Amino acid sequence: MSPLHAHLEPVYDLVLRRNPGEEEFHQAVREVLDSLGPVVAKHPEYAEASVIERICEPERQIIFRVPWTDDQGRVQINRGFRVEFNSALGPYKGGLRFHPSVYLGIVKFLGFEQVFKNSLTGLPIGGGKGGSDFDPKGRSDGEIMRFCQSFMTELYRHIGEYTDVPAGDIGVGGREIGYLFGQYKRITNRYESGVLTGKGTGWGGSLVRKEATGYGTVFFVEEMLRERGESLDGKRVVVSGSGNVAVYAIEKVHQLGGTVVACSDSGGYVVDEDGLDIELLKELKEERRVRISEYSEARRGSSYVAGGRVWDVPCQVALPCATQNELDEAGAGALVKNGCLVVAEGANMPTTPAGVEVLTGANVLFGPGKAANAGGVATSALEMQQNASRDSWSHDYTEQRLGEIMRGIHERCATTAEAYDAPGDYVLGANVAGFIQVADAMLALGVV
Ligand code: NAP
Repeated sequence: MSPLHAHLEPVYDLVLRRNPGEEEFHQAVREVLDSLGPVVAKHPEYAEASVIERICEPERQIIFRVPWTDDQGRVQINRGFRVEFNSALGPYKGGLRFHPSVYLGIVKFLGFEQVFKNSLTGLPIGGGKGGSDFDPKGRSDGEIMRFCQSFMTELYRHIGEYTDVPAGDIGVGGREIGYLFGQYKRITNRYESGVLTGKGTGWGGSLVRKEATGYGTVFFVEEMLRERGESLDGKRVVVSGSGNVAVYAIEKVHQLGGTVVACSDSGGYVVDEDGLDIELLKELKEERRVRISEYSEARRGSSYVAGGRVWDVPCQVALPCATQNELDEAGAGALVKNGCLVVAEGANMPTTPAGVEVLTGANVLFGPGKAANAGGVATSALEMQQNASRDSWSHDYTEQRLGEIMRGIHERCATTAEAYDAPGDYVLGANVAGFIQVADAMLALGVV
């Protein structure tokens, strides 16, 4: 890692001191500060108004107890979080994650990234994130519902369509959003559709929201490849994860003529040289909610590798769509060795800093999550627009809007990277373009 700009070093030291042990948050802040040296050199007004110190400190951090009763009648206690990071551009917006690894440092890293990502979409949304250390795996429908109801019984006092608008993330999909919205509606006696996004399409949700993060990531990849005079047609692709983002990334790659030959979950990965069967994947993961190992039992010619590393499967395009720090130096090395051309992050911060160095050092095009996976939150903002106007748009129109937004984000990253003498550096482009928009709004709004 190269040293930070003289103004940024003390800011980073303060972040380390104020947030001890929150390694993922430190990593996310460091990655943005690494890009901001030329910005503070060119724009001293940001340093003069302490904008960078302010942007690294969440506006509000809420931690609460979530008591609920399991199917055996035992009382269980989890911890809930909502970090309202920055509202300079609009109401806080960002998902809820239910996973046993969730603690304040994870929520803060996600909330921090969300601020820049949301800014990059060009839509009026601030950044926030939340969740719980609740583990939904193996829990019955009734347990999930009681947990969601208890979670919302506290969260409802902090959110609202003009205040803070949560959505899904790992472990929170359409079923959970339904239970959360039901409880919000019951407590407040308001059918306030715009308070949550990712709702079912029959009760205020937007078409294409479920598909948006995965589709958007693939639209971003198409733009990256276009810069090199190529396209996804005929490309061999590997995707990690098999959740919401992964499934719809796979679907869109296939629609655009590529072939996804492998995907994974936390137990291992499957390889299917004929291209993954998307309908089978949806049945296993969205309906039956079983492990990915069952794919190879259901599909002749495919194989399952327990544990292992999906990045060892040769590919030209790799899409990490599972979780943070899943693509490390060794995984990146395997991708480079096998001739990978493009890596785009469907997940948030899935590539470690050393992994990014290996990829960019080998001239692999690298699309950071802030830009590449912004299609999900962008379509959430489109859901808010539809709710505000009590309208619902067609699938084609909504997907067209998503495509335009992703092309706009790509353009913003590419032109900003060029303006800062780093053509093709999407990390710098995304961080700087995202930052400037928020920083200018913060200057305009005064010291608040
Ligand atoms: P999801 O539907 O819950 O799927 C998560 C997938 O990742 C599952 O296949 C899961 O496998 C795997 N996974 C989770 N933790 C893992 C770990 N520690 N090691 C290996 N695999 C792991 O979640 P999602 O909504 O697709 O989110 C995936 C990523 O995309 C996250 O980084 C999220 O923050 C990011 N993202 C999501 C959205 C969105 O709209 N949903 C938008 C932007 C970014 P198991 O089932 O075995 O745990």
